[in-house]
Amino acid sequence: MTLSLIGVGAIQYYWVVKAVNLDEKNFNDKVTIALNNVKKKITTDTEKLMEQRYYENLGIPQPSVSLSPGVQPEIGTVGINQTDPATHDIKLKSGYLNQDELLENIDKDVLDSYLKAEMASKSIDIHYEYGVYSVEYNSYFIENGSYIATIGDTTKSSNIAALNPLAKAEYKIPLFDNESYSPGHLNIYFPNKKGFLWSNVLGILISSIIFTGLILFCFAYTIWVIVHQKKISEIKTDFINNMTHEFKTPIATISLASDSILSPVIIENKDKVKRFVGIIQQENKRMLKQVEKVLQMAQIDKENIELKFNQINIHDIIQDAAVNAELKVQSKGGKITASLLATDPVIEADGIHLASIVNNLLDNAEKYTPEHPDIYIETANIPGGLTFTVKDNGIGMNKDALKMIFEKFYRVHTGNLHDVKGFGLGLSYVKAMVEAHHGWVKAESELGKGSAFTIFIPKKQNA
Ligand code: ADP
Repeated sequence: MTLSLIGVGAIQYYWVVKAVNLDEKNFNDKVTIALNNVKKKITTDTEKLMEQRYYENLGIPQPSVSLSPGVQPEIGTVGINQTDPATHDIKLKSGYLNQDELLENIDKDVLDSYLKAEMASKSIDIHYEYGVYSVEYNSYFIENGSYIATIGDTTKSSNIAALNPLAKAEYKIPLFDNESYSPGHLNIYFPNKKGFLWSNVLGILISSIIFTGLILFCFAYTIWVIVHQKKISEIKTDFINNMTHEFKTPIATISLASDSILSPVIIENKDKVKRFVGIIQQENKRMLKQVEKVLQMAQIDKENIELKFNQINIHDIIQDAAVNAELKVQSKGGKITASLLATDPVIEADGIHLASIVNNLLDNAEKYTPEHPDIYIETANIPGGLTFTVKDNGIGMNKDALKMIFEKFYRVHTGNLHDVKGFGLGLSYVKAMVEAHHGWVKAESELGKGSAFTIFIPKKQNA
């Protein structure tokens, strides 16, 4: 796809440049024709003038057909020898003006009007600059419809032909030239030619940029979706692996315990039977807990989570959860401390879900602190409600992980998948529930130092 996009881009670029080049060729042709026509007109005018003067000088009336093709008055000595015999076959020979003089006799206004008319007839309606250069003066003596007053004064830099921008003009046509001598030329250039040519293809250019951009956007979006889907599928595979593992252990233990009870040696011994039944119950509870966690996922997916709001004392919930978690924490050589500072700990909330939120946070704090957990719980009243924070001194996480932990199924990769058990659902459940309570959750963490989760629940739900 990338290759074909580059290909399409290159082809489009090629076509646009080709179109501009073609336009330019067309433009050049038109300008050349226009200049040739101007040249013809000026030459014809001058021929007429010379002829008229010649007859005036002789004192004889001018023959009315003198300028018709084929009629060639063979008079005089030197003058214009047109190089284009098809249109200028009148070889006028006048003794009055030489080629340089003819050139310098060009009328600025006539030239200007000829140029204007020719440009208009070729539909070239962009600004142009022109000048007539004389070899004799080595200078431009007409510029853009005006005579140059200081012609010949080479102390003025504008009169130094090579410095004049017209010297670099793209179009030049010699005037009153013959095979051996050219007294000067008419130069013309279009300062905005490039812009004009590109403006002709602007529509195509912009639309092709827009369409290529669209394709590029769709391409990028498709890639993003593929990568995203791949991640989700990896996460789901992880989840299934985890779940299988989590259920396999209690199932195996229960099966082992029930087999043991059935063995004749054990079945007689009440104490042993009790012990094994105890194990079965314990494992059963563990499975129930896992099932509940998976069910939490269904809760998150529900569009409208149904909550039963009651007046709940958060301190009671925290104390109960702390008592439950304490055993595990103590077995790791740690402790749970609480600063229940909120003066008004009663909030409107769903007791069961609130307890689940606190349990999830305490569970995580214990799970992700491998040694001597020092878990600290704090509550505080802030305007509008109440916050509680669960802080630990565990493994913490980096900034990238911190951004992701509230995503469903997300688990920080530790390398060993089953190192710490979990489905990656706890925090997404916490977030969904807190939001259903119109509150917010904030996570802070530093890799290797610990984490802190703060939750805000408003005092009243429909305030
Ligand atoms: P899990 O079932 O994996 O614990 P959670 O949604 O509760 O799922 O947490 C998501 C991930 O966030 C965890 O896998 C873990 O990497 C990270 N995490 C959550 N709580 C903590 C904590 N207190 N300390 C460090 N990492 C944590």
